[in-house]
Amino acid sequence: MDKRNYNAFQTAQAQFDKVAEILDLEQATRDLLRNPMREYHFSIPVAMDDGSVKVFRGFRVLHNDSRGPGKGGIRFHPQETVDTVRALSMWMTWKCAVVDIPLGGGKGGIICDPHGLSLREQERLCRGWVRQIAKTVGPLSDVPAPDVMTNAQHMLWMLDEYETIHGGKYPGFITGKPVGMGGSLGRTEATGYGVIFTVREALKEMGIRPEDTLASVQGFGNVAQYAIQLFQQLGGTVTTVSCWDQEDQRSYAFKRTKGIDLKELQSITDNFGGIDKKKATTLGYEILPGEAWIEQEVDILIPAAMENEINIDTVKKINRRVKIIAEGANGPTTLEADKYIKEHNIFLIPDFLANAGGVTCSYFEQVQCNMNYYWEKDEVLGKLDTKMTSAFIAVSELAKRKKLYMRDAAYVIAIDRVAQACKGRGWV
Ligand code: NAD
Repeated sequence: MDKRNYNAFQTAQAQFDKVAEILDLEQATRDLLRNPMREYHFSIPVAMDDGSVKVFRGFRVLHNDSRGPGKGGIRFHPQETVDTVRALSMWMTWKCAVVDIPLGGGKGGIICDPHGLSLREQERLCRGWVRQIAKTVGPLSDVPAPDVMTNAQHMLWMLDEYETIHGGKYPGFITGKPVGMGGSLGRTEATGYGVIFTVREALKEMGIRPEDTLASVQGFGNVAQYAIQLFQQLGGTVTTVSCWDQEDQRSYAFKRTKGIDLKELQSITDNFGGIDKKKATTLGYEILPGEAWIEQEVDILIPAAMENEINIDTVKKINRRVKIIAEGANGPTTLEADKYIKEHNIFLIPDFLANAGGVTCSYFEQVQCNMNYYWEKDEVLGKLDTKMTSAFIAVSELAKRKKLYMRDAAYVIAIDRVAQACKGRGWV
């Protein structure tokens, strides 16, 4: 089955329904939490450099704000759908709850391919998105952030437009801003590092030294690159990474058995996480079909690209040596593949726990903006480690105590917190 035929929102709802049963939630709570509370769909006309006008579709979905303002990235993607945005907003609610930060879940997107847009066109697109949604997002209601194919520069253009519309300085409107313009040190590293904080704890529980492990990573963007950096600092070896090739419109894996050289690969990678194949070949990397990342004889798999990449077709290719799957991406595993992973006793660190480092650091960014006082990088990353480690331990202890699959245990903690907040407010 083509992975584009999997619907991420159906996956998110099915995961929720399963845990609603475990928690025996009341019907009204189920009805409230299995759908977003609000969503906006809009058109964004953009003046192109050649004088024409192109109209893009944009979305912002707020799943739940019972525990605090909505929080979630905005992504640029040519295949973006509102169902993907809905799923991602729901996963943001659970993510903020599992690491226990006072935020809800939101997500945004624009159907576009920034590869084909000049910087000025991207700026006009960012400003256009904000103009459509400026009345409903904000530091006290719903706070955007970067995601796939968006970065600190996009966030700054969005902030500038928001502040122009509202006539004041509102650095807490958006996170992932450049350092020095309200951004937090450590935000760039946060998601990837957070993934590895949880991998480190999982290895500790298994009594395995990171130095004795091999990993294969899908993707070579923000999450993947910093996950690899910290994993290598812990002594682990990454043998394979993969990425999307814009020219060929397909993915490739890059393998070097003795381990990839992160800096070397970064030097031949574009801003969107695409590695130059020709240069990689010259540097001695074996170039394989993209799917090969999952078949590698390694201990740890880190999907850090897009949704539904571990599906019924690919999951059966996982090597028997694999002990841990740490989901850096959001929703990388389909329901059938998840069942397979559970049955094969692979230790899974679910997406909304593994990749919660980004939103946790975004929360730190908001705290710093509100105080107008900024912490040193070590302080940010130290606080991040504490939050991620305690969230991991809480989930893993519940999983052991109640004999639950890690994903279900994380959901039980998160959904219970959100359900209590909705009940406490008198919503249900
Ligand atoms: P990015 O745009 O920086 O990088 C994405 C990478 O995935 C690129 O290397 C791209 O080439 C690769 N890719 C895309 N499709 C692929 C495919 N079919 N096969 C192999 N590689 C493919 O994005 P990112 O910020 O690193 O985000 C990656 C994932 O992590 C997404 O699911 C995102 O939602 C999630 N996430 C990101 C953050 C964050 O802070 N950046 C936080 C939480 C979750």
